[in-house]
Amino acid sequence: MTSIPPIDLGQQYRTIASELETAVLKVMASGRYIGGDGVTQFEQQFSDYVGTTHCVSCNSGTDALYLALRALEIGAGDEVVTTPFSFFATVEVISAVGATPVFVDIDPKTFNLDVAAVEAALSDRTKAILPVHLFGRPVEMSALMEISASRNIAIVEDCAQATGATWNDRQVGSFGRIGCFSFFPTKNLGGFGDGGAMTTNDPELARRLRVLKEHGSTRRYVHEEIGINSRLDAIQAAILQVKLGYLDKWNAQRREIARRYAELLRPIPHVVLPSESDNGGESVWNQYTIRLSTPLDRDRVRESLQTLGVSTMVYYPIPLHRQPVYRELGYDEGSFPAAETVCREVLSLPMFPELTPDQQQAIAYRLKEAIGD
Ligand SMILES: *Cc1c(COP(=O)(O)O)cnc(C)c1O
Repeated sequence: MTSIPPIDLGQQYRTIASELETAVLKVMASGRYIGGDGVTQFEQQFSDYVGTTHCVSCNSGTDALYLALRALEIGAGDEVVTTPFSFFATVEVISAVGATPVFVDIDPKTFNLDVAAVEAALSDRTKAILPVHLFGRPVEMSALMEISASRNIAIVEDCAQATGATWNDRQVGSFGRIGCFSFFPTKNLGGFGDGGAMTTNDPELARRLRVLKEHGSTRRYVHEEIGINSRLDAIQAAILQVKLGYLDKWNAQRREIARRYAELLRPIPHVVLPSESDNGGESVWNQYTIRLSTPLDRDRVRESLQTLGVSTMVYYPIPLHRQPVYRELGYDEGSFPAAETVCREVLSLPMFPELTPDQQQAIAYRLKEAIGD
């Protein structure tokens, strides 16, 4: 019985190996490894792709979020409204700039921030809303954009898992004041190391982001504020330039895989499938995440699947408001019931563009077996 990994990055590399190797060797021979034309070209290509006038590259998705909040002058005394169901970095950066995270429960059908509940969480200290397009599925941006406009509150989009996803035919990362992307290897557009980018239509914000990512420096060796060092390496930029050309094709393959999963898994009782994109949203399926509802025990099913050769992941086992570091915020168990339930039930199945129909059949078959159906 062949085992199936949750993701296979080596396989994707082999499909475009010579193109990638040519691009990387060219950087090595150039003698310039930080900055340079390749980085500028990638920024241009990426802003064209997202549909914004500016793109500022940086070292990671985490840095992109941190720099975005800094550029918007968010700090001590300010509140940022976000989801309790995301990767830790989403909320970590809010604390890192000195602001306070305010959580809003999720819609368990989309796994995303429940936009209808956002209004009630706003206060006169709310400086930003930080929606996360989780697992590749775009948040309902129309409603958020209305709140943002009427209350004059900035939106910073966490697009780390959703490069290429669209809402009403517009790319995520082009709605908020700043869109934040990660090029971590497992993301839809992933480098061979760390990388990130920020997109915006505001030239002044773009300038601020560049200053902040270069040690707060406007001119070399002149520092006007405290920034950080956050660069996209030339080698990563070269790799990302090549891979950006394949992104739409890979995202289409992910959509096809999601469609096949839905067909194969629909008959299995107590397995809740991720809802198809609707309301104008087009997911790019960074993850295919099912819920195993009562009477199923997620962890037990996961173990059985592992024994049967299917590796799965749990994103995420603990909601952000229940993380030990946020104990002092005082969110008890039961504060956000949807997020808490989902954390106990979610299971992400293998998902990568090269996953074959045969592998998917085997996964469905073994899932049935693991459930004891
Ligand atoms: C990956 C991820 C980040 C952080 O990106 P890094 O490049 O790993 O720093 C932030 N938010 C979400 C939702 C992510 O999935």
